[in-house]
Amino acid sequence: MIKQFLKRVFRRPEKTRSAGKVQIISHALHGVSREQISYGARRVTDGLQAAGFHAYVVGGAVRDLLLGRVPKDFDVATNATPEEVKRVFRRSRIIGRRFRLVHVMFGEELVEVSTFRRMVETEDAETDEHGRLLRDNEFGDQEQDAARRDFTANALFYDPSTQEIFDYHRGFSDIREGVLRIIGDPQVRYREDPVRMLRAVRLSAKLGIRLDAATAAPIAAMKPLLDNVPEARMLDEVLKMLLSGHSVECIQELRRMELHHGLLPLLDAIMDRPAGEKFIMLALRNTDERMSQGKPVSPAFLFAALLWHEVHAAWKALVEQGERPVGAMHAAMDEVLSRQKKQLAIPHRHDAIMKEIWLMQQRFEQRSGQRPYRMLEQPRFRAAFDFLLLRCASNEVDNELGLWWDEFQDASDERRKEMLQPESSQGARKRRRRPRKKVEQAA
Ligand code: ATP
Ligand code: MG
Repeated sequence: MIKQFLKRVFRRPEKTRSAGKVQIISHALHGVSREQISYGARRVTDGLQAAGFHAYVVGGAVRDLLLGRVPKDFDVATNATPEEVKRVFRRSRIIGRRFRLVHVMFGEELVEVSTFRRMVETEDAETDEHGRLLRDNEFGDQEQDAARRDFTANALFYDPSTQEIFDYHRGFSDIREGVLRIIGDPQVRYREDPVRMLRAVRLSAKLGIRLDAATAAPIAAMKPLLDNVPEARMLDEVLKMLLSGHSVECIQELRRMELHHGLLPLLDAIMDRPAGEKFIMLALRNTDERMSQGKPVSPAFLFAALLWHEVHAAWKALVEQGERPVGAMHAAMDEVLSRQKKQLAIPHRHDAIMKEIWLMQQRFEQRSGQRPYRMLEQPRFRAAFDFLLLRCASNEVDNELGLWWDEFQDASDERRKEMLQPESSQGARKRRRRPRKKVEQAA
């Protein structure tokens, strides 16, 4: 009896994972001012507070501001239920079924408002056989909401009206020391949600802060748990890495932790080939650069780059077997895409763009007659041309081809005519080849 009683008493703190006391950090110490909060997020916290609720800016935004970075978006956490939030703001909508959130619109800005939630203790929660936490959608208080979050740096609450930060897990001092530390027992937290291992890699790479030793230690042994994560969620996380603006660091970190095997099957196959690696790293570096310049990047372009060497290899094999180049390209694309879909579900909506980019690579070779002009009119020309430049930079094709297209795009009519290659060489060869092929097929 006593034993059981003691067991219950001593396990409780571990189950709720409360850190005990909250630290309230004043503006004088942290220096984040109300003006640094987006207009919409300020309106949301002001509005909720005026209606008698608690409301804070939370998560990535507070972390980024403390690190001197510009936050991507501002999320708000509150003790108001989604219905109560909706009643305060005219232009708002409740979204989601399992986790009900409210989207509040202020002009162009969309602020996501979530009600404080608590983690359901692992014992009563619906976990799968590996202990993955399947439920954390019950309402809770601020302290419980902090405890369900992943890293101490992500669990800070900022009140724009008092300019104070509420810190339950010493996240403020971790940020100051440049440490990313998981809240609670790392093994338990990774078992609850293996994606946190990837988030650890992505956030430390993106923020340029080191992973705390105890947070990193269990990852090597626990990485097989990633196999149980639903594909769509994996893809989401991989995309976040690739489009983090720090994809190169993310991939390097993944490899260092030996996490890239199985996670990115397409990388597995390709990284072993030096040419493939060079091309992929160039594509990633190029993406990071575009992001830092505020230019748009498309996931389709990135996937096209990641899969290119497989497509190219499949195409070459088919051509060597006697297939015609264009037909071989179509077959190669379909083969690689269907193989890839079994491993990491790249959504079908990207297929068309990827195929266009790949198909246009062959057409860059054709530099006579009307063809180059038609190429320029293709809506996907720019993406395909950027892709060609990557192929040049990785020594897959001669630089001269990239330079030719670079000049042709912007050249005067006169100059374009001069640049065109004589029709005869390519055209004549083509005409001769076709009938022969038909005869072969007929035979
Ligand atoms: P980013 O700048 O990339 O958006 P973020 O930390 O804001 O980084 P989000 O995915 O937007 O990441 O998540 C918002 C917040 O939700 C996080 O700061 C964290 O507090 C919490 N969170 C997100 N994913 C998890 C998870 N898997 N487990 C626990 N908490 C999580
Ligand atoms: Mg975020």
